[in-house]
Amino acid sequence: MAPTVPTAPSPAEATIVVVGAGLAGLRACERLRAAGHVGRLVVVGDEEHPPYNRPPLSKEVLRGTTTREKLPFRQRPTTADVEWRLGVRVTTVDLDARTVTLDDGSTLAYDGLVYAAGVRARRLDLAGELSWRHTIRTLEDAERLAPELRPGSRVVVVGAGFIGCEVAATAVTLGCDVTVVEPLPTPLERPVGAVLGREVQRRHESHGVRFALGRVVTAIEDAGEHLEVVLDSGARVAADVVVEAVGSQANTEPLAGLGLDLTNGVLCDDGLHPLRGGDPVLDVVVVGDVARFPVRGYGDDAVRIEHWSMPTDMSAHAAASLLAGLAGEPVPGDGFAPLPSFWSEQYGVRMQSFGLPHLGVADVRVLEGDLTGEAVLGFHAPDGSLVGVVLLGLPKRMLEFRSAVVDARAAQTLEPAG
Ligand SMILES: Cc1cc2nc3c(=O)[nH]c(=O)nc-3n(C[C@H](O)[C@H](O)[C@H](O)COP(=O)(O)OP(=O)(O)OC[C@H]3O[C@@H](n4cnc5c(N)ncnc54)[C@H](O)[C@@H]3O)c2cc1C
Repeated sequence: MAPTVPTAPSPAEATIVVVGAGLAGLRACERLRAAGHVGRLVVVGDEEHPPYNRPPLSKEVLRGTTTREKLPFRQRPTTADVEWRLGVRVTTVDLDARTVTLDDGSTLAYDGLVYAAGVRARRLDLAGELSWRHTIRTLEDAERLAPELRPGSRVVVVGAGFIGCEVAATAVTLGCDVTVVEPLPTPLERPVGAVLGREVQRRHESHGVRFALGRVVTAIEDAGEHLEVVLDSGARVAADVVVEAVGSQANTEPLAGLGLDLTNGVLCDDGLHPLRGGDPVLDVVVVGDVARFPVRGYGDDAVRIEHWSMPTDMSAHAAASLLAGLAGEPVPGDGFAPLPSFWSEQYGVRMQSFGLPHLGVADVRVLEGDLTGEAVLGFHAPDGSLVGVVLLGLPKRMLEFRSAVVDARAAQTLEPAG
């Protein structure tokens, strides 16, 4: 009798390794199970915690209104048999041997790989006492910063993006003396443009936040009992605490040298497979903040989107795409068309966005309400089409304006009548 030759496992029985135990890693596991995968699932995460929710870190955790016990995501029964390797970092991925190496010296073989390593906080490239300089990405970061936000503390926030603005709002509400330093002329200018940015600035200033706009930090000096933040104007701002909220850096190092495009995240096709020499790597998908991918209906440029909603949307598509890829089949469906959406919360007002407002900051119109109160703003591309909306308050109007963005995108992606 001829010997039995082991066959490659079916995609449903494949061993899948997930790099990163964040929201995207967890959602990928859930969606793989929902798509019929029953094989071994191993998640490697360098944090010691099971996947937890990050948005409260710059809001409720700093305010002291929630604690670490409330942050972990609920684990569903379908993923009860997932193997979690926590507190261990993946150092290298070998796409040809299909292995990942961990910093404890062990190696894991995979049939399929989900890369969900997220991003880390960028640091200012400046010398200076690091223990007084904070970033905010992890639970430990937030727990280290929270007790420093005491009434009367002088807090300098560097960077007026969403996280910087949220930290400033929280700190001033807690009674801190807050200055925000930002190189651009208005807060939030990149994601939502100057019109909304100026209104956000007005709201912050009305609560007592000071801004140094169009200014760059050139040094952070130790002045004994406090820090001195030196600006390019020569001005010096005294600080007890400095929070660096100057953007993020994608965690791509384990994929270095493999022929992938790692410029601002991992470049993927619309199946979320990374591209190697222009070809999709079919046994790998990339999910969450670390992925850069084309979003159908928003132009040809691949984008990297750091929104809480994206890992969930991406994981359903990535799971189907990975299982198809393991069978050597193309991506199912007719392209990936998630609707990017995010929220922020400052001074108790929820800012909710749908679409990609940054593509329409040159033509912003108030669609409803009053910009200085509750309002809906529409962001339009040069051809006049609606590419995003932002609601300030008005939660009951959310679904209607979400639909408006979906409809506008559908109109853009329709083939012209022949
Ligand atoms: C302070 C803060 C506030 C936010 N607020 C909002 C908000 O209000 N609204 C909104 O829409 N979005 C918000 N976000 C964004 C949202 O939380 C992210 O989009 C989401 O967490 C992305 O999930 P992820 O799994 O891709 O990345 P992550 O949650 O970062 O998970 C990636 C995990 O992989 C780990 N990892 C990295 N490299 C390795 C490696 N080599 N080996 C093993 N593990 C590795 C990381 O340590 C991390 O645990 C906020 C983010 C932060 C930090």
